[in-house]
Amino acid sequence: MPQKSPENQNAKQVPDYKITQPEMDFDDQTPEAEKENPCPDCGVKKGERHLNGCDIERCPKCGHQLITCDCEVQHSERLPWSGAW
Ligand SMILES: [Zn+2]
Ligand SMILES: [Zn+2]
Repeated sequence: MPQKSPENQNAKQVPDYKITQPEMDFDDQTPEAEKENPCPDCGVKKGERHLNGCDIERCPKCGHQLITCDCEVQHSERLPWSGAW
């Protein structure tokens, strides 16, 4: 029986060309979500007012936690999330 496809056809060297793949650049960049830096408690974005009962929110009058102080704070006086605490 005739051997139609010899197994050693690949014996000769193939050119060692490199497959150039676009390199995935994993720069250590902060993801967008982290840049926004939402409040760790109520989750509002930086610059927005905290939700009611957030224990990160500071009292604009005494500087303590708003939920634990006794100051009367109008809604319009309440501090927005500053991105740091
Ligand atoms: Zn909050
Ligand atoms: Zn207070």
